[in-house]
Amino acid sequence: MKKFLVTNKCGNARIGALGTLHGEIKTPFFMPVATKGSVKLLSNEEVESTSTQCLISNAFILSLRPGLETIKMHGGLHGFMNWERGLFTDSGGFQVLSPNFCEKLSDKGVLFKNPFDGKKSLFTPAESTRIQNVLGSDVAMCLDDVPQANSTPERLKESVERTTLWAKECLRAHQNKKQLLFGICQGGVNEKLRGKSAREINGIGFDGVAIGGLSIGESKDKMFEAVEIALKEIPENTPRYLMGVGSAQELVRAVALGVDIFDSCFPTRTARHEMAFSMEKNINIESLKYRNDTTPIDRDCKCFVCRTHSRSYIHHLVKTKEENGLKYLSYHNLFFTQNLMERIRLEIKEGSFSEKKFTE
Ligand SMILES: [Zn+2]
Repeated sequence: MKKFLVTNKCGNARIGALGTLHGEIKTPFFMPVATKGSVKLLSNEEVESTSTQCLISNAFILSLRPGLETIKMHGGLHGFMNWERGLFTDSGGFQVLSPNFCEKLSDKGVLFKNPFDGKKSLFTPAESTRIQNVLGSDVAMCLDDVPQANSTPERLKESVERTTLWAKECLRAHQNKKQLLFGICQGGVNEKLRGKSAREINGIGFDGVAIGGLSIGESKDKMFEAVEIALKEIPENTPRYLMGVGSAQELVRAVALGVDIFDSCFPTRTARHEMAFSMEKNINIESLKYRNDTTPIDRDCKCFVCRTHSRSYIHHLVKTKEENGLKYLSYHNLFFTQNLMERIRLEIKEGSFSEKKFTE
């Protein structure tokens, strides 16, 4: 089976399939985040029924708790979670570099303090790859040096150089040949550095290239400029993954540029902030104006929440802190997002996809 195949194009937008050990994943696709092995508030069955094809978990966080030995007893992360569809693991670079963990950063890796036992360890590119090999996800991600928002050009340059160095070490350490390995480019919104990083990472020869370090507070226009610069360096036959993007508008805009893969906690996180997605305008269900609104959250949504419950009912659940309130919102938001991806794929196939159609 070919690992990645583009079957139709409409402008720069494309559909295709990513071949993995757990079946073909239709691209472009969106991955809900299951950091610790679970999508917040939703069961696997519920997640599956939103047409989710693939999840992403966090290798670093899972290696701390429950630890690799426990997951190994289940034959890997798929077995531990009892999830049979596609699964990516993020290296956890973003988390380990946060001030909560990171004690010292160098070319060797990240010296971090384990919050559970206080022990200090060095998290290296090779160790990150070994962990993901054991977890057995369908796609492993390289450890990258993720700079904070508004980093200086010097820091961005350092991060780009180190990310390339680490990517080579990850590829050398990669032992699980059934698992795909994706590289990640950095460079913030700096044109030169983003282009250089994408070129270098693509040149190493991974199964896919991700665009990382964006959607962290920069303007949307700046972000999409950086995406376009990176995409120029990633050939058509390579899967392109934009990390951390998940609002409807951004998904449509990035697909139009030629991005194939997305992940974000946005749909479920906004749900936990009482916000429901809607084709017209997102609604804050907690607002008093929905107290007696007998219409569904979104008239056109086919999810079980919109088919069976009113805005008034969900408003009541949220107001009275009934757990099902946020659960139903999480379900709706995820279903809404996956439905959008299905529509996008269909329209690309039919040749009628246009960014404007979705945003007008
Ligand atoms: Zn719905």
